[in-house]
Amino acid sequence: MSDQNPLFIPGPTNIPERLRRAIDVPSMDHRSEKFAAILNPVIAGVKDVLKTRTGEVVIFPASGTGGWEAAVTNTLSPGDRVLSARYGMFSHRWIDLCQRQGLDVEIIEEEWGNGIPADRIEEALTADKAHAIKAVLVTHNETATGVRSDVAAVRKALDAAKHPALLFVDGVSSIASMDFRMDEWGVDLAVTGSQKGFMLPTGAAIVGISTKALKAMEKARCSRCYFDFRDMLSTNASGGFPYTPPLNILSAMKVSLEMLQEEGLPNVFARHHRIAEGIRTAIGAWGLKICANNPRLYSETVTAIYVPHGFDSNKVVSHAAEKYGVAFGVGLGEVAGKVFRIGHLGSMTDVMALSGIAAAEMVMADLDYPINLGAGVAAAQEYYRSTRHVGSVGTSRAA
Ligand SMILES: *Cc1c(COP(=O)(O)O)cnc(C)c1O
Repeated sequence: MSDQNPLFIPGPTNIPERLRRAIDVPSMDHRSEKFAAILNPVIAGVKDVLKTRTGEVVIFPASGTGGWEAAVTNTLSPGDRVLSARYGMFSHRWIDLCQRQGLDVEIIEEEWGNGIPADRIEEALTADKAHAIKAVLVTHNETATGVRSDVAAVRKALDAAKHPALLFVDGVSSIASMDFRMDEWGVDLAVTGSQKGFMLPTGAAIVGISTKALKAMEKARCSRCYFDFRDMLSTNASGGFPYTPPLNILSAMKVSLEMLQEEGLPNVFARHHRIAEGIRTAIGAWGLKICANNPRLYSETVTAIYVPHGFDSNKVVSHAAEKYGVAFGVGLGEVAGKVFRIGHLGSMTDVMALSGIAAAEMVMADLDYPINLGAGVAAAQEYYRSTRHVGSVGTSRAA
């Protein structure tokens, strides 16, 4: 596969040149002030991205899955009930992790292609008069189906039911690419990773913790050691780390946060929206169906596309890789073989997106799909021509 081509998988994402250089740092003493000068701005920058003023941020050497485990084990006890909905592979995996941690998971099954059903969450919370449910789990952006859930609606459901459960949100494929409002939405634990919106290699699990979650931490009895928030928070307070930190990732994260700040978060989100709209326009021109069931659910970071009946979506992915050196995402779980995914987050521009649309079109033409070569590209071109470019990632900035 050509490594000159951009990746169109929803993580790990393309690493811009500036961040590839920022990874290349010599080792340093992590008990020195020099390390604190990296860690402190990183933590402050992540708080800005999460939009939290009152919460804490911790960063573990792990992938996003480690962030799930840290959030759960630091705030809950074995046997605790948690409420979740399953509507894709990532919400499923988080449920599985909770079950393996000995939690009692109340699962609402939802059609894949829908988001979290806030109304059914409210019903379940209202029915729980004894407040046995300790946490509600939401996957903000279900990467398997390209569905964005309404976190604010889940907060409203908790408030309407006057229920004290913690609100956990997986924002691994949304945070830093789509708007996320930790304080405003009353999110108690926000989880993300370095290799998606932050445009970095895999290696950092990032967790936002509310003051309410910090109180729950004191009583939590799930076992944790490496992922213990308390060790991390107490050493971070003086600019240190409880063990050897992932220095290269943290150094580059400082630069990634600077890039996001320079572009401006509203511009970052607008860029993702515009790129995603162009891709969705192309899919419409192909006559294909998007997995997300309605436009309110459309993800700005990944789109899952149903292939026509009788076709195998895995072949789209393997043919794209073999013949054109382009990576798309396969369908996972219930939609395996039925959808392929275009990841369009992180370091991405309209021009890069056009190359992905063109490559997908060549692949489908090769595989005898009923599409007209050029139809999707032309539709996206018209969309991009008629809308204004914002932001600066991957482009030379206007004077
Ligand atoms: C990528 C992803 C994860 C975590 O995956 P890791 O491979 O452990 O980083 C979790 N949730 C969602 C929604 C994701 O997209």
